Amino acid sequence: MFGSDHSGSDPLGGGSDQLIPSRGILASRPYRSRPALPFRPERIVLAKGALECPSGQELVHSICTAYPRAVVSERFDAPHNRIDLGACDPLELHDRGKKTLVIGVHHSAVRQSSEAGNTCPNYWHFSPYGFCPYRCHYCYLAGTRGVRFSPTVKIFVNLDEILAEIDRVARRLNRPTAFYLGKLQDGLALDPLTGYSRRMIPFFAAHPFARLALLTKSADVANLLDVEHRNRTILSWTLTPDAIARRFAPGSGLLCAWIPSSTASPIPISSWTVSSRPHEIAASAAFQQASCS
Ligand code: SF4
Repeated sequence: MFGSDHSGSDPLGGGSDQLIPSRGILASRPYRSRPALPFRPERIVLAKGALECPSGQELVHSICTAYPRAVVSERFDAPHNRIDLGACDPLELHDRGKKTLVIGVHHSAVRQSSEAGNTCPNYWHFSPYGFCPYRCHYCYLAGTRGVRFSPTVKIFVNLDEILAEIDRVARRLNRPTAFYLGKLQDGLALDPLTGYSRRMIPFFAAHPFARLALLTKSADVANLLDVEHRNRTILSWTLTPDAIARRFAPGSGLLCAWIPSSTASPIPISSWTVSSRPHEIAASAAFQQASCS
């Protein structure tokens, strides 16, 4: 389907989000990718598993269509974290990784954090994405072993499998349980490409136990405006003063020169209830009656 490296082409033609036949708890809605600006990958690599299911093929096509100038490479024998970027110097490797979008699968994407000595309790988190297209100078992920080894930006097409695992874990725990998206990536930065929020949020809305906490610096909330949430998702933004963001967080979508008052939202999404803490760097827009409580 994808020949050797090429650019400037529309390799698959057509494209829409898959229908998700999962006991009626997942949303099914056509979706067409939009560029996740300011992210403009120079290279898109199709790794192992990227085209193995119809939903993956459709998503790959849609993403490649959104970036018609990107070079598309097939590496179907390589898992997502084994893509050779042709660099050894750590900074060069990092720079090439930020310009490379890898599409593949992640079969252990649902995990519980297990760091010893944390002030915060450990928690469940999941990864339909890997790493982040932004370029914050202080990014703690950039120094982690996994990202140092594989600094590409990643999208995993097996979202159905990931949500099924969340379902299994939450039912086994048999109590309201938060699953965080944003520990090992930005939770919303790549959503214009995938439309995943439109499938995840209805999934959590319908689930008896699983709740979603999504952390991001992205201001692109177009996919969230009409999605059914039933107060079971929390969105949390990091707001950074413009002068600081321009110097230390180039590429992030949300530059905010002020922290909003308790009644103002940094993001214009009228169907969501807002709570903010003006004295903290992070401000959260949360659903009423956050379901994890
Ligand atoms: S938004 Fe977060 S994950 Fe992305 S580069 Fe900045 S600090 Fe790193």
